[in-house]
Amino acid sequence: MRADRDHNRRMSERNIIAIHDAGPRGLSLRVPDAPLEAGGPATALLDRRQRPLHDLRISVTDRCNFRCSYCMPKEVFDKEHRFLPHRELLSFEEITRVARLFVDLGVRKIRLTGGEPLLRKHIEGLIEQLAALRTPEGEPLDLTLTTNGSLLARKARALRAAGLRRVTVSLDAMDDAIFRRMNDVDFPVADVLAGIDAALQAGLGPVKVNMVVKRGSNDAQILPMVQHFRSAYGPAVALRFIEYMDVGATNGWRLDEVLPSDAVRALIDAAYPLEPLEAAQPGETAQRWGFRDGRGEVGFISSVTQAFCGDCNRIRLSTEGQLFLCLFAGQGHDLRALLRGARADGSAWSDGELRAAIDALWRQRGDRYSELRASAALEPGAGARRIEMSYIGG
Ligand code: SAM
Ligand code: SF4
Ligand code: SF4
Repeated sequence: MRADRDHNRRMSERNIIAIHDAGPRGLSLRVPDAPLEAGGPATALLDRRQRPLHDLRISVTDRCNFRCSYCMPKEVFDKEHRFLPHRELLSFEEITRVARLFVDLGVRKIRLTGGEPLLRKHIEGLIEQLAALRTPEGEPLDLTLTTNGSLLARKARALRAAGLRRVTVSLDAMDDAIFRRMNDVDFPVADVLAGIDAALQAGLGPVKVNMVVKRGSNDAQILPMVQHFRSAYGPAVALRFIEYMDVGATNGWRLDEVLPSDAVRALIDAAYPLEPLEAAQPGETAQRWGFRDGRGEVGFISSVTQAFCGDCNRIRLSTEGQLFLCLFAGQGHDLRALLRGARADGSAWSDGELRAAIDALWRQRGDRYSELRASAALEPGAGARRIEMSYIGG
């Protein structure tokens, strides 16, 4: 009883709902009596807004060697900050078990993220396990990873050999001084560029490069980034511009520091004419535009000015095994408690029961934070305590 109380207190301190409890939103997420069979539901699993479950993002660490001001500002993530101890993290076996259940329920794409995922020891071991998973039709998953690129030159070949298919690399400037200021740990551009080259050589292409645009900090770098990547790589690298988001509660986000994607696109179009491209996949976050001269494409992720909740098919698993139905959710759902705990009769939760719990969770999902923010139904940054990007994964 006492252990239960302590557990519940710890969970609520971290904004975590136990999956088998009735949550504060009044939703009962009790595991249904009849567990789902492996192979998933007979019909597609849809949430309350008819969105399918397709994309699982797994955060493998809350640590990072960068201190990007929009994500892990130095003043907050300092020597005093307590990162999660190792025992709290899901093990590779636990992550793979969860991933397999998600594949049964319809997930076809897995992205590893963090924090900085390449800091997790022997991440290749996890990639090997995930690469061995198959869909019910016998197909491998679309397995990818987002990284700041700092360790990529060293690790690209091993990641590919382990079964990783593609990488996304974050890079906010071509100018070395500006980039060192953005990452706030004095890390040089040249090493990230070496990481991108190594990824391409290892067969991890085409590489996506993410640039978060913060007005007044790196917006003068938009054209130099386009110029560099189209001339050096053409279609082998797709540059994507991300609107600075009000995620988490520590980055001091201000609307006037957001440069809308439309303005970024107009700037690029004037120098390098663009034409719209079809989405490669339903639920894709980026709007794609091709250079009219055929030298590749750019993408725009506009979660502030053009909400794309309508077909959001993503679910996030945090480093310590909490499920988040939205990047801006105030609370996660405690899957780790089910993975590690036992039922009242002392027996472990079966795969069928875990699948049924996740199934029930997705069916009651109605999240659409960005739409509400855009319709002014919500003040930007409003809501309960929000989860940091470095914890939940981008
Ligand atoms: N450390 C890795 C990296 O930087 O690529 C992976 C984790 S990071 C949280 C994932 C992505 O989120 C990165 O592309 C990063 O630029 C983006 N990101 C972080 N904070 C953001 C914010 N406030 N607004 C928009 N994008 C953000
Ligand atoms: Fe680290 Fe990525 Fe966040 Fe930058 S964006 S601080 S690299 S987790
Ligand atoms: Fe998906 Fe939430 Fe982002 Fe909307 S705000 S696109 S529901 S993660």
